Amino acid sequence: MDVRVRYAPSPTGYLHIGNARTALFNYLFARRHGGSFIVRIEDTDVARNVDTGVEDQLSLLRWLGIDWDESIDKEGGVGPYRQLDRLEWYRHYAEALIESGMAYRCYCTDEELEAIKREQEASGADRFHYPRRCLDKPEQDAPYAIRFKVPDATRYAFDDLIKDTVTFQSEDIGDWVIMKRNGIPTYNFACAIDDALMKISHVLRGEDHITNTPRQLMVLDALGFKRPIYGHMPLIVDKDGRKLSKRSGSVLQYISQFKERGFLPEALFNFIALLGWSPDAKAEVFTPGALVERFDENRLSGSPATFDAGKLHYLNHQHIQRLELDEAVALCRPFLESEGITEDKDPAWVRELVSLLQERLDYGAEIVDLYHAFFKGPFTLETEAREFLAATDGAATLLGDLKGRLQALDTFDADAIKQAIKQAGKATGMKGKQLFMPVRIAISGRMKGPDLPRMISLLGRETVLQRVSKTLDTLE
Ligand code: GLU
Repeated sequence: MDVRVRYAPSPTGYLHIGNARTALFNYLFARRHGGSFIVRIEDTDVARNVDTGVEDQLSLLRWLGIDWDESIDKEGGVGPYRQLDRLEWYRHYAEALIESGMAYRCYCTDEELEAIKREQEASGADRFHYPRRCLDKPEQDAPYAIRFKVPDATRYAFDDLIKDTVTFQSEDIGDWVIMKRNGIPTYNFACAIDDALMKISHVLRGEDHITNTPRQLMVLDALGFKRPIYGHMPLIVDKDGRKLSKRSGSVLQYISQFKERGFLPEALFNFIALLGWSPDAKAEVFTPGALVERFDENRLSGSPATFDAGKLHYLNHQHIQRLELDEAVALCRPFLESEGITEDKDPAWVRELVSLLQERLDYGAEIVDLYHAFFKGPFTLETEAREFLAATDGAATLLGDLKGRLQALDTFDADAIKQAIKQAGKATGMKGKQLFMPVRIAISGRMKGPDLPRMISLLGRETVLQRVSKTLDTLE
């Protein structure tokens, strides 16, 4: 099988998670089958194009770890790969359809079309059907659109990779515009022509495009082009089962937003791959390479994929644990810097902070919250911690003893601190939880946290002594 698949973004905005999923599944499919992955820019909706749209799409795909074999920056013999650079092809095939009687020039103005629409609505029609007014009109010296003449009583059926057989009747589709008066093709026409000329073997795309498929099939059939195999992926829905959209509350949905929050590209890659696809194993954490190896289009699901932010956090957490310390520092540093936390700190301090907190991180920006929770005031005792301390006999004696030892240490490093805690335990007869929990509470106000001696060292002697004194005050 000669696999050629494409991702065909319209540069009308940022890379949305739904589009990223389309790109990713096409990419996985191509790589799995040793085929080619093509990125084609569908920019014919000129009014909606945004200046940075193309670059935004391509740079974020690259960031996600998706590369391509052919696109505007990589010629593969069937370019150009930007639809506005292909206008002569569309013109050529539209003329060919007119020649063979399968399309015709339509001279109706917008006002006339509006009037027909209103008439049809008034007579109860639920959708607009162009009444073929211009079908047999002689050629005129006036601007015209080109309409496809939809075949009568024809059934358009295709075996969808994901949804089985899908059928449409031609009566439900009116003669539609393939070329607008300004010489720009409509999406369905350009898409069908390009899929054919670019020898696309499989079209994997969102379910919202399924109603476009019969129009694209009409064009392909009329011109004698081979039909690709289609696979329409189910919607991505929020936790209430609604299509993920701008109305889905505070859910992040654009790839740039995840990037800005410090999610890792390989974790997003992993997460997106599980939106509508599942591996034949219980495991969930995969590298991009492992996903390419495992990808199997027969395991694409036909039911809506739920966007579960908790799962994304879990996967990102898992991928963060796989980072080397240098990589984790690179991930966290920008967030610390933008909060001014690193200003008076040396690089070793930053490394140690990240090293201590890496195991607790779900995403990069969270380093700031964790820093505030453990290292920056105001220092207060959580209720549970205060109660534990009050119920621990000998806590005050222990903390008083430890305070003296910490004050006296020559070097305030984790090893020396560890010894001091041990000795304080011995001197006061406290051990295990009775020893470590009061110390942890006295220096962080909490019952859980990172490695104790390292946290104490990183906090610095002055802060630690202040915190222990403050805790002792509450015990009096
Ligand atoms: N340009 C279309 C979009 O952005 C692509 C549709 C397709 O894959 O055929 O939705």
